Amino acid sequence: MGSNEGGACDGKAGSVVVPEIKFTKLFINGEFVDAASGKTFETRDPRTGDVLAHVAEADKADVDIAVHAAREAFEHGKWPRMSGYERGRVMNKLADLMEQHTEELALLDGADAGKLLLLGKIIDIPAAVQMLRYYAGGADKIHGESLRVSGKYQGYTLKEPIGVVGVIIPWNFPSLMFFLKISPALAAGCTVVVKPAEQTPLSALYYAHLAKLTEYVVQAGIPDGVINVVPGFGPTAGAAIASHMDVDSVAFTGSGEVGRLIMEASARSNLKTVSLELGGKSPLIIFDDADIDMAVELSRLAIFFNKGEVCVAGSRVYVQEGIYDEFVKKAVVAAQNWKVGDPFDVTTNMGPQVDKEQFERVLRYIDLGKSEGATLLTGGKPAADKGYYIEPTIFADVKEDMQIAQDEIFGPVMSLMKFKTIDEAIEKANCTKYGLAAGIITKDLNIANRVSRSVRAGTVWVNCYFAFDPEAPFGGYKMSGFGRDQGMMAIDKYMQVKSVITAVPDSPWY
Ligand code: NAD
Repeated sequence: MGSNEGGACDGKAGSVVVPEIKFTKLFINGEFVDAASGKTFETRDPRTGDVLAHVAEADKADVDIAVHAAREAFEHGKWPRMSGYERGRVMNKLADLMEQHTEELALLDGADAGKLLLLGKIIDIPAAVQMLRYYAGGADKIHGESLRVSGKYQGYTLKEPIGVVGVIIPWNFPSLMFFLKISPALAAGCTVVVKPAEQTPLSALYYAHLAKLTEYVVQAGIPDGVINVVPGFGPTAGAAIASHMDVDSVAFTGSGEVGRLIMEASARSNLKTVSLELGGKSPLIIFDDADIDMAVELSRLAIFFNKGEVCVAGSRVYVQEGIYDEFVKKAVVAAQNWKVGDPFDVTTNMGPQVDKEQFERVLRYIDLGKSEGATLLTGGKPAADKGYYIEPTIFADVKEDMQIAQDEIFGPVMSLMKFKTIDEAIEKANCTKYGLAAGIITKDLNIANRVSRSVRAGTVWVNCYFAFDPEAPFGGYKMSGFGRDQGMMAIDKYMQVKSVITAVPDSPWY
C-alpha cells in the first residue's frame, strides 16, 4: 500500500490473512441459531468492497425469541441472584478469554470495519477488556442507603437490576461499544439483547462464543440467556428492540436521528428507560502560547484517528490568530504525511471508511465544503481506485454557519477556523447543537480552567485528546444525548431503586 502523499494507495488487501469466520448465526439462549426467516445479509471488507461473510439476519420474530430468553434468564436464572462477587469473577474470566484471543478479535474488527490491526491489538481490544474488568470490580460494590425516616419507622434503599436491557450500537468501535454497554448491565445483574451494527456484526458474535466458553473455565459461567446477540438492520431488528414491551431499558449509541426514533418507540410502547450517546462536532481550541508542534500532532490525531469515524473527533479546529499561519502550514504537511493504506500494514495510519455509504457521504461533504466557499488545503479525494479510502482532508476559511462546520461528517475532514480572544473562542466552540467533547491546548492554567468550565461538552481534554478511561463518565450535553457511560454511575442506568420502609413500633429513638 502506498501513502496519500504523492499518489493513491493501491486499495488491495495486504498479506495478513483474516481468520476463518466461524460465528455468523444469531446467538440466543446460549445457542447459535439461524434467523427464523432463514435470511442472511452480507458484511463486506472495506479494504476491497468484497463480501467477508453472510450473517444471519434477525428481525422482529428473532428479537421476540431473544427477549423471551433474556426475560427467563432474568426472572428465573442464576445471574441476577448470584452475589456481585461471583458475577464479577465470571466477568473477569470472560476478560481472560478475550485477552487470549486478542489477535483474532483485532483481525475481525479490522476486516469488518477497516480498523488498524495494530491499534485493535493495543487499543480497541485491551480497552474492551479493561471496561469489562472495571465493572467486574464494581459488581460487588453496589449498595443502597439507610434512610432517616420521621416517626416510628426505619428505611433503606435496595438497588435491583432493571431487567432485560436492549443494546443497540454503531460500527466505529465494535468491541469497545459492545463492552461499554453490556459490562455495567452485567455487573448490575441484568440480561441483555445486543444488536450490533449491520456493518460490523462479527466480533459481537465472537464475544457470544467466548461468553459461552466461560461455562468451561469457571463453575456456572455466564448462564444461557444472559447475553443474546441479534445482528440485523436498524428499522427491523433495532426497532423491534426499541419498541418491545418486555425490554426494560435501551442503551443506544449512534446518530441523533435514530436516537429520536428510539425515544419515540419507548414512548409508544412500555416507557422503557433510554440512554442515548449520540453524535458530536467537537472543537479543539489552540491558543497562541501552545507548543505548535504538539498542537499539530494532537489536531491530526483528533480528526484522522480511526479515519475520523469517532463521535468525539476534533473536527472543528480553532487556532488563535498569532500562530494561525504557522499552524496551518504545519498541519497541511502533517496531514500529507498521514499514511493511508491497508489497515493490516503496521506502517499505515489510516484505513478505509467503513463502507460505500460512508465513503460517498464523506465525499459529498467535501464537495459541499468547496461549494460553500471553504478553501480546500489538502486531500479531498478518494485515496485508491478500489476500497473506501479517502485522503486526509483540511479546509480553511470555514465559517460557523457552513454545513461542514455544523454537521457531523464522521470522516477525515478537518475544518480550520481562526479566533482572536478567549471569549470569541468560547462562543464559537459552543456554536453547535452538539456537546460531546472539546479539546484545549494552552500552557496557561487560567485559560485552561476558564475554557473547560465554559464549554458545554461532556468531556474536555486539556493538552491531550482521546484520553479515555473507564473511570471517567462519558456522554453528551445538548443534542449529543443524555445518560453517562463509564464510571460507576453508569451502573445506575441498569438499576432500579426501591425504598423499603418498616414500622418500628417500639423504637427507642422516638
Ligand atoms: P446509526 O444511528 O445509523 O446506527 C446505530 C445503530 O442503530 C445501528 O446498530 C443501527 O442498525 C441501529 N438503527 C438504525 N436505525 C434504527 C431504528 N430505526 N431503530 C433502532 N435501531 C436502529 O449510526 P451509525 O451510522 O451506525 O453510527 C454513526 C453515528 O454514531 C454518528 O452519529 C456517531 O457520532 C454516533 N456515535 C456516537 C458515539 C457516542 O458515544 N456518543 C460513539 C460512536 C458513534
